[in-house]
Amino acid sequence: MPLERAEGLILRLHDFSESSKVVTLYTREFGKIRALAKGGKRLRSPFESALDLLAHIRIVLVHKSGGALHLLTEATQASRFSGLRDTLDGLNGGYLVAELLGDWTEENDPHPRLLDEALTTLTRLAKGGVGGDGARAALARFESVLLWELGYRPELERCIGCARRALNGPLAFGFGQGGIMCTPCRQQQRGWRELTDGTWRIVRELTRQAGGAEEGDGPLAGCDSATRRQVARWLGEYLSWIRGRRPRLMGWQET
Ligand SMILES: [Zn+2]
Repeated sequence: MPLERAEGLILRLHDFSESSKVVTLYTREFGKIRALAKGGKRLRSPFESALDLLAHIRIVLVHKSGGALHLLTEATQASRFSGLRDTLDGLNGGYLVAELLGDWTEENDPHPRLLDEALTTLTRLAKGGVGGDGARAALARFESVLLWELGYRPELERCIGCARRALNGPLAFGFGQGGIMCTPCRQQQRGWRELTDGTWRIVRELTRQAGGAEEGDGPLAGCDSATRRQVARWLGEYLSWIRGRRPRLMGWQET
């Protein structure tokens, strides 16, 4: 049985038996995996206190094939997000990152960039007194990168129907089509909604920046709370449309 080393973020923890837990992790090496931590509930376990929701850990595991649970043999803390649990906005944001990574990714389909982005987002959310607006900016960035990385980048530069660039009048975004639509093109289509000019400019910039690095609040720097909420609502609606259901832990950042 091959022993493998990996680094990852704990997304879910389930009790498996009197003394064991099943850990769902997003790892750099294998993407999402599920592993059995025997003795993980005992006070003196081989995992010290590393097995905690949203913990960033290094692990050693016995890699099983064919969809069987891997077997965790070691887990140690890699870095801490001290302060994440100090504010409700930070903690809610952290839980949403874990839910999105858990629900949107497949097992054994690694996207190392998603782990890096999740760790950066948690670091931002853990900053002292992050507040609702700071959490909204961090989450908008994470959601934009998630969409980009998993192949759902919205088309916000040109009409998805006729590829025209300079669009007049109020913009519309077709959720089923995944892009903005000009007035003639939207006549025959359903599932679109008007997109305000302000929100369009910000989500277009977020999408552009999702292809690369970003500093601080990005295009949301200087935006008021109302604008941040509008952007959160738009991202939430697009994510919900793609998956056919709304993420459970989404919504607080929209109001
Ligand atoms: Zn068009």
